[in-house]
Amino acid sequence: GYRSRAAYKLTEIDDRFHLLRPGARVVDLGLAPGGWTQVALERGVTNIAGVDLLPVDPLPPAHILQMDFTDPVCGPQLIELLGGAPDLVMSDMAPNTVGHRQTDHLRIVGLIEAAVDFAVQVLKPGGAFVAKAFQGGETASIIAQLKRHFADVKNVKPKASRADSSETYIVAIGFKGRS
Ligand code: SAM
Repeated sequence: GYRSRAAYKLTEIDDRFHLLRPGARVVDLGLAPGGWTQVALERGVTNIAGVDLLPVDPLPPAHILQMDFTDPVCGPQLIELLGGAPDLVMSDMAPNTVGHRQTDHLRIVGLIEAAVDFAVQVLKPGGAFVAKAFQGGETASIIAQLKRHFADVKNVKPKASRADSSETYIVAIGFKGRS
């Protein structure tokens, strides 16, 4: 069984976009408890590195870091564990909400922007980016930003994501590379 319900969301996304392939290098941001990494391993990915603030039970051969992704040393450590540029950066990171709308929104946006910046800095040309986002607010401007760097960008609401939640996933494929 999967460690999370989130596993079903990635399954749906990957059934549509086929991003998890043997030989792909994959980064999993906010991986705890490990459902997305389980789906990746099941689909033949063997080179995967993930990070979470929380501890994660081992999922060999996945490399797992317990730290804050926004710590500037984290990205380089993930790339070193992978041994090269990733084909896919995926993020299901969500901050613990504090209940103050403005603050919660800013923290969510901050995490998505950190994931986007990282992806654009490290992805292999032709690579892909998947990230949890939330309807409204800055999501439209993040999509506009991604369109400059990727051939195709879509906003996806998996069936496994509760209809009443504002959660959506941004899927960006065909990374154009850094000129
Ligand atoms: N995709 C996971 C799965 O399938 O098991 C579920 C991820 S859960 C929805 C979101 C995770 O993001 C939480 O475990 C949380 O600790 C993590 N997270 C939030 N902020 C983070 C940060 N700054 N650095 C690393 N992980 C973070």
